[in-house]
Amino acid sequence: MTTAPSLAKLLPEHTDVAILGAGPIGLDAALAMAEAGRPFVLLESGARPAAGIRSWGAVRLFTPWSMNLSQRMREALDHKAPDTDACPTGDELCDQALNRIASCPAIAPRCFTETRALAVGRDGLLKREEIGTERRAERLFRLLLQTPNGERVLYATTVLDCTGSHHTPNWFGHGGIPAAGERLLAEQDDGRLIRTIGQFLEVRDWQGQRVLLVGAGHSAQTAAVTLAGSADRVHWVLRGNGENLAAIEGDPLPERSALHLRARQFLDGANTNVTAHRNTSVESLHSNNDDGSITVRLRSSAARPASAHNGGAHSEYAQECTVNRIVALVGSIGDQQLYRELQVQECYATGGPMRLAAALLGEGERTGGDHASNTDCLAQVSQGPETLLTPEPGYFILGNKSYGRNNAFLLRIGYQQVDDVLTLI
Ligand SMILES: Cc1cc2nc3c(=O)[nH]c(=O)nc-3n(C[C@H](O)[C@H](O)[C@H](O)COP(=O)(O)OP(=O)(O)OC[C@H]3O[C@@H](n4cnc5c(N)ncnc54)[C@H](O)[C@@H]3O)c2cc1C
Repeated sequence: MTTAPSLAKLLPEHTDVAILGAGPIGLDAALAMAEAGRPFVLLESGARPAAGIRSWGAVRLFTPWSMNLSQRMREALDHKAPDTDACPTGDELCDQALNRIASCPAIAPRCFTETRALAVGRDGLLKREEIGTERRAERLFRLLLQTPNGERVLYATTVLDCTGSHHTPNWFGHGGIPAAGERLLAEQDDGRLIRTIGQFLEVRDWQGQRVLLVGAGHSAQTAAVTLAGSADRVHWVLRGNGENLAAIEGDPLPERSALHLRARQFLDGANTNVTAHRNTSVESLHSNNDDGSITVRLRSSAARPASAHNGGAHSEYAQECTVNRIVALVGSIGDQQLYRELQVQECYATGGPMRLAAALLGEGERTGGDHASNTDCLAQVSQGPETLLTPEPGYFILGNKSYGRNNAFLLRIGYQQVDDVLTLI
C-alpha cells in the first residue's frame, strides 16, 4: 500500500482547492475534486489519513457500513468495501476503506500528512475590509501551514475546511466555562484529566482508580460502560436528569440502542461502584499535592436527599468528592481560530456557520425539538447548498465541524455536503 507523501518540497505553492483534514469528509471531497478535474491538495495534521477516527479506532460506530461511505468512495474502492448492516469499528472503517481511498492514485500524490493548517486569511485583505462583498474573492486565500520541514505558505482559490472537532474539546465547568482549577489541570497534561474518547481509550487499566466522569453523550456512555466494569469508584456527573439516555422507540440502530440500554443501567444503580449525580455540574477542583488526587466540588440542583434537618428541600446544594482522574467527555467544537481573519459568520448558539445552523434550528422546530440536536440524528438530511455559504466567498466548512455544538452530525450528511459544495465552486 502506498503511503501519502509528506515531503514539504512536493507541496505546491498554489492550488485551486485546499482541503483541510483527511477525515472521511475531506477524503470524499478530494475524490470529488479529482473527478471534477480540479487541482487540489489534501492536508492532514496527523501522521496518517483519518487520524481523528484512528484516535478512537477501538470504538464501534453505531451506523452500519451501508451508511458510512459515499457512492463516490464505493466506486473508488471498486465496490469492494462492505455494504452490509454490520457496524465497523473506527479502525475497521480506516483499514477497509479510508486508508485505501487515501492511497489511490487520484489522492495519494496530493495528500500531505503531518501538515497542519495553522491559519487561513485573504492575501492582503483584513477581516474588516471589503465587508461581505464578492471583491474578497479577487484575492487568493493565504494559508499558513506547519509541515515536517517547518512553516510554509500555500495560496488557494477555494478552501474546504473539513478539520472536524475532535481536537478541541469543550470545558466541563458549570455553565460551559472552565471550572475553577480546570485550566491548570489541562495545562499540566499529566494524564489526570482526560478530555477526548481517544485519550480515554489509551488508558488500559482502570483498576484501583476513583474516577469523575462528566457528560452524557455517546462518548460518555461508552466510557461509563468501561469504567463501571473496571474502576474502583465512578462518580458520573450529568447536567440533566439522564433523559437523553432514554432509548429511541424502535431504534433502527441496534448498536446505539444497546449502548443506551447498558449506560442507562449504570445510571439507574446497576453497579454499586457507580454513583450518578443528575442535574449536577462541576464548580471547582483542587489538586492535592500529597497524593495527586483531585477534590471536586459539585453543584447540584436536584432535590436534596431528605434528612432530619432539611426535610428534603429542592434547592441547589454542593457536595465534594475526591478522585484520581477526571474523564470529561462533554463534546467538542471545531477550531474557530483557524478562520479568525475571514468573514465567517457563526451562529451565536451553536458556533456553526450561520446559514446552516439556522436551517438546522428550523428543522429542529419542525420536528419537535428546540434545535436539531434534540431530534434523532437519523432524521437529519442535508440542508441544501446555499446553507453552506458564508459571507467569505470560497470558504466552506464541511463535515462534523459544520454542525458546531449540534451533535446530530452523521457521515452521510457530510457526503451530501460534498455533493452540495460541488454545485457552488
Ligand atoms: C466516538 C465517535 C463515534 C462516532 N460514531 C459515529 C457513527 O456511528 N456514525 C456517524 O455517522 N458518525 C459518527 N460520529 C460522528 C462523525 O461522523 C465523526 O466524528 C467523523 O469522524 C466526522 O468526520 P469529519 O471528516 O468531519 O471529521 P474528522 O474525522 O474529525 O476528520 C478531521 C481530520 O482533520 C484533521 N485535522 C484537524 N485539524 C487540522 C488542521 N488544522 N489541519 C489539517 N488537518 C487537521 C484531523 O486530524 C482529522 O483527521 C462519531 C464520532 C465520534 C467521536
